[in-house]
Amino acid sequence: MSEHASKLGPARELVDPFGRHVSYLRVSVTDRCDFRCTYCMSEHMTFLPRKDLLTLEELDRVCSAFVARGVRKLRITGGEPLVRKNILWLFRALSRHLDTRALDELTLTTNASQLTRFAADLKAAGVRRVNISLDTLKPDRFRAITRWGDLADVLAGIDAAEKAGLAVKLNAVALKGMNEDEFDDLIRFAHGRGFDLTLIETMPMGDIDGDRTDQYLPLSIVRARLMDRWTLEDIPFHTGGPARYVRIAETSGRLGFITPMTHNFCESCNRVRLTCTGTLYMCLGQNDAADLRAPLRTSTDDALLMRAIDEAISRKPKGHDFVIDRRTRRPAVARHMSVTGG
Ligand code: SAM
Ligand code: SF4
Repeated sequence: MSEHASKLGPARELVDPFGRHVSYLRVSVTDRCDFRCTYCMSEHMTFLPRKDLLTLEELDRVCSAFVARGVRKLRITGGEPLVRKNILWLFRALSRHLDTRALDELTLTTNASQLTRFAADLKAAGVRRVNISLDTLKPDRFRAITRWGDLADVLAGIDAAEKAGLAVKLNAVALKGMNEDEFDDLIRFAHGRGFDLTLIETMPMGDIDGDRTDQYLPLSIVRARLMDRWTLEDIPFHTGGPARYVRIAETSGRLGFITPMTHNFCESCNRVRLTCTGTLYMCLGQNDAADLRAPLRTSTDDALLMRAIDEAISRKPKGHDFVIDRRTRRPAVARHMSVTGG
């Protein structure tokens, strides 16, 4: 039983039908972005009408409801979370749950393009760590992958995060024919600065302009290639997420692998995802979802909202079934990662 109480009496923790405790909520605060990464979005995206978005106050309310129900970690993501207007207000509001120790961690995933402006204020709002997406260290390639991004801004953002005292983890999506010759450099860069690095397989989410089978690079292959040059030592390090970590003996740094396509990480899944319109996805790889915006807007009391959350968690599926192959060219789920927030 949680120590937290709500207006409904003592709040129960969220446990799904498979006995998994939901203790981690990822929240996409916008579907918009200042980049157009080729694996994530098409160049000409139609974004959601602003009236459909949860307001910052509504985001605070729904996050706080989850915290009252035992969620201990909140990750703010997007789209690009730092392009949402007045986003610092939300971080500052949510930090009250860090002060009461109801929450262990308030964090974000960002492309770092805006971090020179935000790093110090995020640190002051209680953020301790930040995940930064960086797929390449080559400026031309960076432009090709992100279409609109500028590597110099991102590197400056990483510097700003470090200067502000934020711990940095870098995430790189492994892309066939795009950055597969750069993993050594990314390892040297990340570990040289004391950052963890995680490699991610592309997931078939949303229509993009290209063919995903052209981008998909199984991490089993990457790992085997890395072992020709580096000593990878399995370590029992877990962040509660789907990454499996090794230590690279030569750098002493950690390297994570997120392999939704080649490894099933669903057994230990502790998370659910909220979109910027208040739709709760119980699994990244399934279409089943629950609308939390209607109960939020129907009453100022949280009773309806709590009931909707309970009902949703009771439907959390056992796992996903992502497939990328030549026969399955359609995305496994129609929504883009920028909607669910990765
Ligand atoms: N804009 C922020 C960023 O890029 O870090 C946060 C949102 S982004 C959707 C979160 C993560 O999802 C990024 O690391 C991105 O590389 C990853 N991502 C986006 N689309 C993906 C896909 N189809 N497969 C795998 N990872 C993807
Ligand atoms: Fe934007 Fe992140 Fe998607 Fe790239 S991966 S387009 S930075 S939301």
